[in-house]
Amino acid sequence: MDALALQKLNAADFPRLLTVQRRRSQVLDAIGALAGGLASAKISNVELGRIRTELSSLVESAWESQVMEPFLYSGRYQSLSESDRAFLDGFRVYGLHDVLAAHRKLESSRVNSPVAVVVRQVLDEAIVLARAARDLKQFVVKRNQLPTATKPLDNPNKIVRTCACCFRDIAVVSSRNMAHHGYARPAPGFQTSSCPGIGFPPLEVSSAGLTWLAASIKNTRASLVKEKDKLPKITQITTPARAGHKCVVVNIGDPGWDKAKAHRLAQITSGIATIDAQLPYLQDKLSQWRQTETSPGQPVLSGKQRPPGGKP
Ligand SMILES: [Zn+2]
Repeated sequence: MDALALQKLNAADFPRLLTVQRRRSQVLDAIGALAGGLASAKISNVELGRIRTELSSLVESAWESQVMEPFLYSGRYQSLSESDRAFLDGFRVYGLHDVLAAHRKLESSRVNSPVAVVVRQVLDEAIVLARAARDLKQFVVKRNQLPTATKPLDNPNKIVRTCACCFRDIAVVSSRNMAHHGYARPAPGFQTSSCPGIGFPPLEVSSAGLTWLAASIKNTRASLVKEKDKLPKITQITTPARAGHKCVVVNIGDPGWDKAKAHRLAQITSGIATIDAQLPYLQDKLSQWRQTETSPGQPVLSGKQRPPGGKP
């Protein structure tokens, strides 16, 4: 696909990939930047990295929600046919970098079951992005070789504000939201490659990110408690796949059953304990929160004040 065709793509072209993606606008922005880089045959290393991180996280979450969740988890893997299991075992998709190899493998496969159809739909969407990102790599140029007039600076005065989810100082882009920044684990249950605070205005402007974070952590706690209650009655545990490893299904009566169950109980207990230690801090922060800026750099009150609980 050439740059022009890529530029015409929008959310409707990626129904599988964008099903659960919360960061839709950032994803579309990354696709736009990918197309722009191919069209101008120029991209900075930093920008290429940002695009790859965004699209990798997209592919990873789509694989999780479209393939792993409906076909592998909660014992569903065990109820698949032998050929479907062998088919799925052949795929390891943890990000954009795995898509080229996975798609090649798919092209040589003859399996046509419902599982294979979904895998094909996900990979057919992902391959467009993976190939474009691969092609873009050859156009990486040094920063001083990049044209400066093509794009107005997003944040010329380098306004830095507090991320509403990880509470670090982060540059503000697009005049209101936080620049892409690596994930800093604020609580259990947030295992993404980028901080969820990217989607929210800084803490000086709005408490929306903090409110969302506290609610998400409460939800995670509730599902952990639910799982803990059900634990004595379960007869099967599926340990999630790690990079380079298959999911392991342990059934009651299997040699590793007691160990797997004790391990899961320990994970749940420590998850709940971590949340219980963090929730009061977040709730405290939320109750003390007050708006100090109407938009980044525009104070509500006189003088430059940071919100209480924000970084000094
Ligand atoms: Zn953050």
